[in-house]
Amino acid sequence: MAPILEIRDVSRRFGGFTAVDRCSLSVEAGSITGLIGPNGAGKSTLFNMVAGNLPPSSGTILFEGREIQGLRPHELFGRGLLRTFQIAHEFSRLSVLENLMMVPGGQPGENLVDAWFRGRKVREFEAKVRERAEDVIDFLKIGHVAREPAGNLSGGQKKLVELGRTMMVDAKIVLLDEIAAGVNRTLLNDIAANIERLNAERGYTFFVIEHDMDLIGRLCDPVVVMAAGEVMRTGSLAEIQADAAVVEAYFGG
Ligand code: ADP
Ligand code: MG
Repeated sequence: MAPILEIRDVSRRFGGFTAVDRCSLSVEAGSITGLIGPNGAGKSTLFNMVAGNLPPSSGTILFEGREIQGLRPHELFGRGLLRTFQIAHEFSRLSVLENLMMVPGGQPGENLVDAWFRGRKVREFEAKVRERAEDVIDFLKIGHVAREPAGNLSGGQKKLVELGRTMMVDAKIVLLDEIAAGVNRTLLNDIAANIERLNAERGYTFFVIEHDMDLIGRLCDPVVVMAAGEVMRTGSLAEIQADAAVVEAYFGG
């Protein structure tokens, strides 16, 4: 399969410090590709560049064969490349359903307020957005919290809603940055199952930064190892765990 995402020789400097140093890697369409490495390796910085939150200092990023470096997050979002983002504080009083309906982008969810003034069309349009949000809630099996204020959810339930928001647009590739952190085992299992279903049933490609090796082992193939800003190795989890240099750099020798 062709790569959906290709990172070529990408670097990012902060002052005199090089956080990401001439990284090259590709993510195959349809894969769940992992990205692991010690703290400070440059993983989140790389994600920030891919998702349009941070321009690279140099290098090329291709999404579906087209250069995207320097594009803004909303432009990438409209093309189906997105990262999950935490529920904003202002949205914590809105219900889960409303949070899903507020997702911006090239879809009907955009400019609900503007559209309000356009009259009847709006009601049709809001009904569409609501229907889509309800489908997302069904898919994720979170109907029991659909009317709860998002701020009342547990950390893991919030992660499910974050995943759900990617379903309000037609996502092609979703970047997940340590989605398992602080989530209990039961919900982690739900999140992993939903990632697998989105991958298998909806064709989502995932690019996943994760420290939880159980989760990496369950979901990700291949796994890319970064250390000190560089890509060190790419392979199955078994392969990289058998690599002495990787073990030294990451698994602590
Ligand atoms: P990881 O996600 O792998 O833990 P990060 O990408 O967050 O690593 O950080 C890589 C390095 O870049 C770290 O040394 C971090 O301190 C540095 N860094 C990240 N963002 C900035 C920034 N905005 N300004 C200065 N240094 C930064
Ligand atoms: Mg990070």
